[in-house]
Amino acid sequence: MATRRTPPAGSPGATPKAAGAQAAAIADALLREYGDARCALLHRTPFELLVATILSAQCTDERVNQVTPTLFAAMPTPQAVVESRPGDLEAIIRSTGFFNAKAKNIRGACALLVERFGGRVPRTMEELLMLPGVARKTANVVLGTGFGIRSGFVVDTHIHRLSRRLGLTEHDDPEKVEQDLCRLLPDHDWIQLGHSLISHGRRICTARAPDCERCPIASLCISRGLAPDAWKRKDTKRGASRAARTRPASIASKPRHARGRMAQGPGPSDTRDGQSRSGSSRRRRG
Ligand code: SF4
Repeated sequence: MATRRTPPAGSPGATPKAAGAQAAAIADALLREYGDARCALLHRTPFELLVATILSAQCTDERVNQVTPTLFAAMPTPQAVVESRPGDLEAIIRSTGFFNAKAKNIRGACALLVERFGGRVPRTMEELLMLPGVARKTANVVLGTGFGIRSGFVVDTHIHRLSRRLGLTEHDDPEKVEQDLCRLLPDHDWIQLGHSLISHGRRICTARAPDCERCPIASLCISRGLAPDAWKRKDTKRGASRAARTRPASIASKPRHARGRMAQGPGPSDTRDGQSRSGSSRRRRG
């Protein structure tokens, strides 16, 4: 008697149950491989993490980590930033790029922290989004890594890219990518999965040369072994439709009921965050 073969999860023939299982399998594999991944921005407090994340726009974490020890020694609190002499903050953070805009945002955020929040970093998405220079990505970093609050998914350049390659989303808009990730992935693992995806994006699934041969989650990836020219197309919106013809449908394209357990999607956000506006490949994380 012939044996009926189950189509691979993530493919057009996959069942709803298989689609949910595919996302869960990806989450499990990432946590197994990168369970010890941590935020690369050096910080001791939520305030330091907030400032470091603002500084990391259009800048590497390594560069940010070079300036923050000096910055936090000179200005350890929001009050100290507000009371600093004009030009002092700019001089310290100059090497992170866009330093005038970043200094303006940091000063504005610190002024609001002092005036409205008693000098403390607030613990809600709504309050964090009031701060200059803070959009959903930065707020999710502060809430997740700074406070351990699972508010949503940090969508930086690595997570954006990997989410598309793994078939977890078909969107370019960071908010919609976040919504897909929140629906597909277990909320109790959002924070660690964010760190894990970023580590995977830095070590293996890089923007220019994904190492599918060495990839520990290749068996779960719908994009493994894609032709080199397809990578250039697939990570951009314009190339998405062409790339879609070279790979199976994504998990996220399946009907809502087919995605397994759903989580509440993110609320409104703005585009003040540098990553949201530019989508620059130099942006590292928050
Ligand atoms: S198989 Fe290739 S494209 Fe897929 S996650 Fe691994 S490195 Fe990235």
